[in-house]
Amino acid sequence: MKTLIVGAGIAGLATARALELKGFEVDIVERHTASPTAGQGLFLPGNATRALAILGILEEVLKIAFPIDAQRILTSRGVVVNEVATQTVWGDCGPCLALPRAKLIDALRKSLRTTRISYGMSVKATRLRNGVREVQFNDDSIGDYDLVIGADGIRSVLREESLGGAVPRPLGMCCWRLAVENPNQVDAWTAMLGKKRTLLAIPMSSSELYIYADCPTAEFGDGSIRVLKEHFSSFGNPLGTIIANLDEKTVAHTATLEEIPPCRFIGDRIVLVGDAAHACSPSMAQGAGMALEDAIVLANCLARNGQTDRPLEEFYMRRIERVDWVRQQCHARDKLRSASDLVRNLVLRHFGTSLYSRSYRPLTKNL
Ligand SMILES: Cc1cc2nc3c(=O)[nH]c(=O)nc-3n(C[C@H](O)[C@H](O)[C@H](O)COP(=O)(O)OP(=O)(O)OC[C@H]3O[C@@H](n4cnc5c(N)ncnc54)[C@H](O)[C@@H]3O)c2cc1C
Repeated sequence: MKTLIVGAGIAGLATARALELKGFEVDIVERHTASPTAGQGLFLPGNATRALAILGILEEVLKIAFPIDAQRILTSRGVVVNEVATQTVWGDCGPCLALPRAKLIDALRKSLRTTRISYGMSVKATRLRNGVREVQFNDDSIGDYDLVIGADGIRSVLREESLGGAVPRPLGMCCWRLAVENPNQVDAWTAMLGKKRTLLAIPMSSSELYIYADCPTAEFGDGSIRVLKEHFSSFGNPLGTIIANLDEKTVAHTATLEEIPPCRFIGDRIVLVGDAAHACSPSMAQGAGMALEDAIVLANCLARNGQTDRPLEEFYMRRIERVDWVRQQCHARDKLRSASDLVRNLVLRHFGTSLYSRSYRPLTKNL
């Protein structure tokens, strides 16, 4: 089966790995000229690390990731309102880890044996012709494929151009993401919640901390470090001083938070995986986990059913419930985050652990 994967992010590389494990050979095209070398951190909950184990690369990732044994939520003044021992919820599913995104991409890329990756090559359009998918590339060359897998991220050309296109929906928030040293020795996933503001720190190693901060889009201004410092100037320790001490020249990645509305992410000889199919708000930290799971389920469906419409339909049916659940839980978390300090702190203090369990428990079930 001649298969093309569009995009060499987490979803594309993981799909190639999963297909290789089932004996398929695939080609990947990636519009950038190389894998990313720098960037943001990733928190990987237990279902993501279980998927890495199935893909055979958990051992490698354990060597380069930091174990996250606790998730702690504090008020903006630094009072703890909830703490969850991650193992109590994820159990045997898998450990929770954090690492730089570029390192996960590197580990996935190095796991590939037969996949050919063409960097600096992008897909402009596809169409069905004589029972195959004809793909038009950026250099105007054309290729015919039995299956095209769109792993091309939230702004997926394939979704918008070949699958009749759901467009990303803004969630009204913008964010900063950056890596800093870990002066206060933050040793757990630590979120501080203020009025319509979240400040999150996740250790990626004993010395390196990944910082995520967000605020309403209307207050994001030019997204500079100066604005970030202003917005979080009233936050206490452990994270407030880290922001206060930031050099204004620090490089941060900024983004508008968006999601893909519910859409049918399969078509004739075409299927979407990862953010292209179901990008969500980052509140559940499920982006990588869902992409890795898509890869495994799609490869299983293709290995069982061969190249007909059936494997794609089966893939859709097996993923849609989880996709809907994660989207719905992201909305619930975002709603709680934007509630008044009083209500939010009360809810988290009394029900934080059971809400955490309830939202993640379905994801601990086998794929
Ligand atoms: C603020 C924020 C925080 C997050 N935090 C977490 C977290 O802690 N944990 C977690 O699991 N997830 C997190 N996520 C989500 C996670 O980053 C994504 O879900 C994940 O990276 C998606 O991977 P992907 O491969 O689907 O898409 P992408 O990473 O977007 O990769 C798509 C690839 O396709 C390429 N491409 C695009 N168009 C074309 C084309 N036409 N032709 C060829 N190539 C193309 C792109 O260059 C890119 O390399 C976060 C997201 C945000 C916004």
